[in-house]
Amino acid sequence: MDDCIFCKIIKGEIPSKKVYEDEEMIVIHDVAPGAPCHVLLLPKKHMQNIVTADMEIVKHVMSKVGEIAKIMGVDESGFRVVINTGVDGGQSVEHLHFHLLGGKMLGWPPC
Ligand code: AMP
Repeated sequence: MDDCIFCKIIKGEIPSKKVYEDEEMIVIHDVAPGAPCHVLLLPKKHMQNIVTADMEIVKHVMSKVGEIAKIMGVDESGFRVVINTGVDGGQSVEHLHFHLLGGKMLGWPPC
């Protein structure tokens, strides 16, 4: 997608702080972190949201969550994975992504 900021990051056209990459996904630091650990798991394939996503890719991303949590040092202390979806869900970038947050006691519920 030409006008998608995450597609541009994936293509290297916009700089990012990358912590992981494989054939299906990259993981970058969120530019406006909401917690000491706040990274974004981005499928390389452009998909608008979890409703319309290719579930094989979602499965792959989910299978990497524990590994990413270890890389970020939050696998033992705990963390949260969030998929904001649509207007009410607060999704601001229409390229499916998974927030992985941790490094402090997170509040709940987030509303
Ligand atoms: P959401 O609101 O769930 O769509 O999340 C989008 C996230 O992308 C927000 O947490 C933003 O801070 C983050 N974000 C936007 N632009 C960039 C960027 N260039 N690099 C890293 N994170 C970004």
